[in-house]
Amino acid sequence: MTLDKNWYTEKWQGQGAAISLRVTDKIHDEQTDYQRIEIYETESFGRLMTLDGLVMVTDRDNFIYHEMMTHPAILTHPSPKKVLIIGGGDCGALKEVLKHKNVVQADQVELDEGVTRTSEKYFPDLCSSNKDPRARLIFDDGIKWVQQSKASSYDVIIIDSTDPVGPAAGLFEHEFYRACYDTLTNDGILIAQSESPLFHDALIKSIRQNMNNARFQALATLLFPQCTYPSGWWSATLASKGYINKPRTCDVETRYYSSDIHVSAQILPPFLRQKLK
Ligand code: SAM
Repeated sequence: MTLDKNWYTEKWQGQGAAISLRVTDKIHDEQTDYQRIEIYETESFGRLMTLDGLVMVTDRDNFIYHEMMTHPAILTHPSPKKVLIIGGGDCGALKEVLKHKNVVQADQVELDEGVTRTSEKYFPDLCSSNKDPRARLIFDDGIKWVQQSKASSYDVIIIDSTDPVGPAAGLFEHEFYRACYDTLTNDGILIAQSESPLFHDALIKSIRQNMNNARFQALATLLFPQCTYPSGWWSATLASKGYINKPRTCDVETRYYSSDIHVSAQILPPFLRQKLK
């Protein structure tokens, strides 16, 4: 990350490409036990949060990611009551999950409390559901949490993690997906952010293989735009123990997700279909 003449630039590792946002101010900078958290005011994307110099959320485009990380899984499950979010410290996914009234408990297990406290200060809209009595904010390692959870504890697990490096690396491994399998109810649904279809197709393939090896029978990779993430094109991979139901009709307010988007997001372009075969 460099800050050059009012431009914040994230160079996309190994891609010979980058994204730059014109910034008007840097309003927060702290080093937690886990990562560096910075907040910028930008000219046209509202506020920007970075972790270790990488874009996490902006006011302008986070709704696409947070809606696509939550509603496809929640609506694919026949009647989700208990939801687990791993990571998700900015609380945007939690807010989307709690729009669904049939959810009675949403546990968010975020490693770094600093991320949530910073988000509460600078992204109050993303944190507007943090005081919902159904929400439990837990600050711990998600891998440990799932390993220690009783079998069939959750109907939906959402893995809203950073990239597969450092403490997040284990969240992309077969062992963790296996622990998620055991922690899910029989009709449970898992969804994981699975990086860029253009830059990380091999990683998506390995995520799907690891989910299969963890005994998940049916997988669906959903594609969606996310202009501030590497390549501007992102994915989430959904997994089910049996088959993937037709989603229930969306009855909550959304700005990107819809029943049509749910269908179209699963249509993979030939290059990716070939790669993921
Ligand atoms: N939307 C972002 C993305 O796609 O890169 C992710 C948002 S969220 C801020 C990612 C969170 O995952 C971070 O706050 C980080 O602290 C958390 N995290 C990383 N490894 C974790 C682990 N093992 N257990 C729980 N949270 C973890």
